[in-house]
Amino acid sequence: MTRARDNPSPEFVQEVQELLSIHEDDAPVACATDDRLVMQWTSPAWDRRARLVPALTHPQVVGRPFVEGIMPPLHAFYRAELLRTLADGEVWRHEYLGPTRDKLMVCLLTVHPMKRHGGLLLVHTQIFAREHENLVVEPDLGRYVDARGTMQVCGSCRVAQRQDGAGSWDFLPVLLGPHEPIPTVWTLCPSCAVHYERLGDAAESPRSQRPRAAAAPVDQSSPTDPNGK
Ligand SMILES: [Zn+2]
Repeated sequence: MTRARDNPSPEFVQEVQELLSIHEDDAPVACATDDRLVMQWTSPAWDRRARLVPALTHPQVVGRPFVEGIMPPLHAFYRAELLRTLADGEVWRHEYLGPTRDKLMVCLLTVHPMKRHGGLLLVHTQIFAREHENLVVEPDLGRYVDARGTMQVCGSCRVAQRQDGAGSWDFLPVLLGPHEPIPTVWTLCPSCAVHYERLGDAAESPRSQRPRAAAAPVDQSSPTDPNGK
């Protein structure tokens, strides 16, 4: 098996391009890993989307574990599913949330096993976007930090939990832009926790017996991008 290093081999890129041709997307947001889930390749559209996080763009990201681009509460889920995809050789599809300052994107991750090189090609497509719920444009950030000055933020949809007794989970666009650093505990909000718990339970059964991929959570009354940017 060929293992791509700093510059993936032409054969590796060729397999990537063959798999990408299925997607009919002129500018796919995609990356590829080797069989240890170490990043080997990113598409130009990936690099453009990740430009605010240079560590996630080529060539800095090459040689880094894929899960470093995922929020910590989801590391175990992605790692397990990606390794399973490598093992069973079947395409894996997963819906996830990609919050931006303006909208909440519901995205589809399609993961192709690379049969000739033993790695994975990961392609992100946006399914639809909707308005944020519980949007607080000009928050009093003091309401979101606990007595130690720490903020609880969902690693999936990026809502922050109010700590002043209200307990609600609100989307604060300011957190996606430049702001004073706030110590953050990455967690899952109740809605995302239920979603990933269900997916985790489903993962216990063989993929061939699973129902079609569960829908991403749409109830954000109490609600990332491997890609979260
Ligand atoms: Zn969430």
